[in-house]
Amino acid sequence: MRSLTLIVSLVLFTSAHWMFLVIALAWFVVYVTILACFVPKILEESKTTSDHRSIVRGRYVDTLSNILSVKLFARWRHEDAHLLDALDETSQSNRRMMLTVNRMNTAMEVNEFFFVGGVFIAAIYAWQVGLVSVGDVAMILPAAVRITQISWWMSEVFTTLFQSLGQVEEGMETITQAHSVTDRPDAQPLQITRGHIQFDGVKFAYGSKTIFDGLSIDIPPGQRVGLIGPSGAGKSTLVQVLLHLFDVQGGRILIDGADIATVTQDSLRESVAVIPQSSDLLHRTLRENIRFGRLDATDDEVVAAARRAHAHDFILGLEDQKGNKGYDTLVGERGVKLSGGQRQRIAIARAILKNSQILLLDEATSSLDSESELMIQNSLIDLMQGKTVIAIAHRLSTMSHLDRLIVMDEGRIVEDGSHDELLARRGLYARLWAMQSGGFIGGRKTTGEE
Ligand code: ATP
Repeated sequence: MRSLTLIVSLVLFTSAHWMFLVIALAWFVVYVTILACFVPKILEESKTTSDHRSIVRGRYVDTLSNILSVKLFARWRHEDAHLLDALDETSQSNRRMMLTVNRMNTAMEVNEFFFVGGVFIAAIYAWQVGLVSVGDVAMILPAAVRITQISWWMSEVFTTLFQSLGQVEEGMETITQAHSVTDRPDAQPLQITRGHIQFDGVKFAYGSKTIFDGLSIDIPPGQRVGLIGPSGAGKSTLVQVLLHLFDVQGGRILIDGADIATVTQDSLRESVAVIPQSSDLLHRTLRENIRFGRLDATDDEVVAAARRAHAHDFILGLEDQKGNKGYDTLVGERGVKLSGGQRQRIAIARAILKNSQILLLDEATSSLDSESELMIQNSLIDLMQGKTVIAIAHRLSTMSHLDRLIVMDEGRIVEDGSHDELLARRGLYARLWAMQSGGFIGGRKTTGEE
């Protein structure tokens, strides 16, 4: 509607005399020049402001998710200052953007002043010399004012549009970042039948930091392997590259003969059960949390898995603020909080339900007390039956029963054999075993639980 009014005003305005067309053209050229000068700057500054806002949000989230550390170290003043720095930068960039908008508005006002003033003088002059009638003058002046009103509205629309575009562009840069690991176009689903794992001359580096330089390990189907080594030896990295969370830079990782680089990541992770060091639970019921391991599991299967993970008894004793009990108890902010050991048992129940041929345990029992650990160890031994297992633990006592122990250091295998063989070899493992008496390795404190 406004565009139509503008066109009609311009036609009426210019039909009175060509002189007004010249004035209108001059005004229009200046109008477009002002937009061309200021709009890219507004777009850029809006993006910067949006960047700074994201930093503020990131710092909020960082502080809140680490609120326990902030309290324990009494660092709330430090965190306040950290946040205020970011808020300060946001308000400064916002101020810069508003200043540019104001400068543009001022330039527009000056342009309009000269336009309306020029039209007024030209109309009086043209009337005096008889080029236009009084009626034309009465039509020209309101038309000029109307044109400036509409052009003002249009510049406001442009400003808001480009401010929003700046924000959208900043958001798009974040959400459209390409995944670092992608499936090949011809990737096939992985079919695990036996669980044979082979690392064949694997080379891997985090940036310039080489972790594996030609690592080869052959784990036959059904073998239960313990990975041992000091902190930073590359144990977790080995599990991560096996799950194709990172692309290797050389060599191959094969599962039942299939290179994991050629299979879909979803099918790979569907086929491998992982019990990580610490498990976060979803803000849902315990039943849904356990069923996360296999979505089509029946209620009976969920309970059976929880029993095998020694979680059933503590689950039955739970009740959230809304009175939901047992498996219907909500977990998380609005429900009950579980201890590290209880969360770990839920993770184990998930893995039991998933029942994959390959099982990866990354410090799976590290957050358990000795009593829970003993119970869980029994569940894990049961769960490991007939599966290919790679387990990482710093406590050697939890690994000694496994078929094979691989001792790693700086991304290389330094010893490989069963517990008895490695003890007989009197090498690094034997020294660690003697030193620990069932404690930890890698400079961590021993517990003497063995
Ligand atoms: P820990 O027993 O302490 O868990 P680990 O043997 O599992 O140690 P990794 O976590 O595999 O060791 O780390 C191996 C090396 O890789 C370490 O030096 C670590 O600093 C580095 N590293 C691990 N993750 C990354 C990452 N995402 N980016 C860069 N370097 C990393």
